[in-house]
Amino acid sequence: MITFALSKGRILDDTRPLLRTAGIDVLEDPESSRKLILPTQRDDVRVVLVRASDVPTYVQQGGADIGISGKDVLMEQDTAGLYEPLDLNIAKCRLMVAVRNETDYEALVQRGRRLRVATKYIQTARAHFAKKGVHVDLIKLYGSMELAPLVGMADAIVDVVSSGATLKANNLKAVEKIADISARLIVNQAALKTKRDALMPIVESFAKSVEART
Ligand code: ADP
Ligand code: MG
Repeated sequence: MITFALSKGRILDDTRPLLRTAGIDVLEDPESSRKLILPTQRDDVRVVLVRASDVPTYVQQGGADIGISGKDVLMEQDTAGLYEPLDLNIAKCRLMVAVRNETDYEALVQRGRRLRVATKYIQTARAHFAKKGVHVDLIKLYGSMELAPLVGMADAIVDVVSSGATLKANNLKAVEKIADISARLIVNQAALKTKRDALMPIVESFAKSVEART
């Protein structure tokens, strides 16, 4: 049995066509189902639905053999035991530093005072500002990072941005790119050895559909 870890939301929307090409059709609508384990039309493949930030953990710990995770999530975690064979080129966005429209970010950085940065990407933000030589106080949030600068809780946020509409709606602007983000196929390294015959065709069919789309 192959267990495939997916998360509801953005990545799943973009993933379903790829799954179908790999011959994996989820039998129930994952967005509306309350089940956490969903059968597919393949007897030997099932899908488990977990939080986006939990997908790497499930695959690492062997709760799932294979999964799809945003690079933003992978950058934030220890990825020991994970094999990342494929950039799926879907759920593309950028990890950015953003500030209020009226904030002069360059001046703020140059002044050399500690910057208060709100984000759910603590490790990635810490590494980014350390590389720039900017001292930061990091504030861990789990969502709606955009609010923090508006209520004076932070000077800047680190978040994923695609169209920029959410930033714009909240009078924020992106000022610095940390990384280009897309969804990645991840595989448990041990499973890749023990279940190679079942896993490799799935990886290869994903590779083919990604190639066909670009
Ligand atoms: P969660 O809110 O649990 O983090 P999301 O569905 O919002 O779940 O995000 C899951 C993944 O989708 C993120 O880790 C990121 O890789 C990607 N993502 C998030 N926001 C966007 C976006 N605006 N455009 C494209 N991809 C995104
Ligand atoms: Mg989200």
